[in-house]
Amino acid sequence: MTRRLYFTVDADRDANIPIPGVSAAGSIDRGSGTGPRFTSSERGMSVLADLLDDLGVRGTFFMEGRTAEVTECSVLSGHCIGLHGYDHEDLLGTETGVVPDVREVLRRGYDAVSDALSRPTCFRAPYMTADRSVLEAVRELGITADSSFYTSVGGPTDPYELHGMTEYPVPKTRDSRGKTIAAYLWPMHEGRRVPEDYVRMAEGMTTLVLATHTWHMVETRDGGVMGPGWVRENAERVRDVISGILDLGFEPSVIG
Ligand SMILES: [Zn+2]
Repeated sequence: MTRRLYFTVDADRDANIPIPGVSAAGSIDRGSGTGPRFTSSERGMSVLADLLDDLGVRGTFFMEGRTAEVTECSVLSGHCIGLHGYDHEDLLGTETGVVPDVREVLRRGYDAVSDALSRPTCFRAPYMTADRSVLEAVRELGITADSSFYTSVGGPTDPYELHGMTEYPVPKTRDSRGKTIAAYLWPMHEGRRVPEDYVRMAEGMTTLVLATHTWHMVETRDGGVMGPGWVRENAERVRDVISGILDLGFEPSVIG
């Protein structure tokens, strides 16, 4: 059986945070408020595009509509393009207390991403929060592949059918110390995990959906914008994760 690695990236506003009472997301306040910033996201796209080109791997980029409009995202053409909302909306209202018009924001995001790059062929909900009605709205756009859910800890990682879509879950499992690890590279970018943790995670799997964010290539949540040395080391770590998993016999694949 072919083992498949899906390297997925959320291309969204820098260090995004939900803002109570507002559907659209902001960015962490670094001294000039929580308005959305896109500089790190744009820089991260180039870092990832170079890295993936070098490895001969096509990625799956879940694009936020607004990010597609305001960044030079053409470096991602050639990769698989998905949708990630328009303004990184909290689609279920669980984080913000505001439920947006889901159909409207998804259509707006779809059109923005189509104009900037190409028609999205898959979907990931901002904050990984979706339900049946969200997936039905996504399907109305002609999209039939989704990656908005985690597996249970240690649960099956292969794609499955969910509300008329093919679902590619993001795995959660336990590391060698018994601690829960998700297939988001987030803690590694923040300096709290090492590439081997993710390679080891892949060992028992036939499908692995790995995930990160564009901005996280050049900015940490806790420490702000990275210096050039850390940007290089951070990219090397991502390379070590991907090549370590490919060395296990995985084939790089795209969602949708
Ligand atoms: Zn996001």
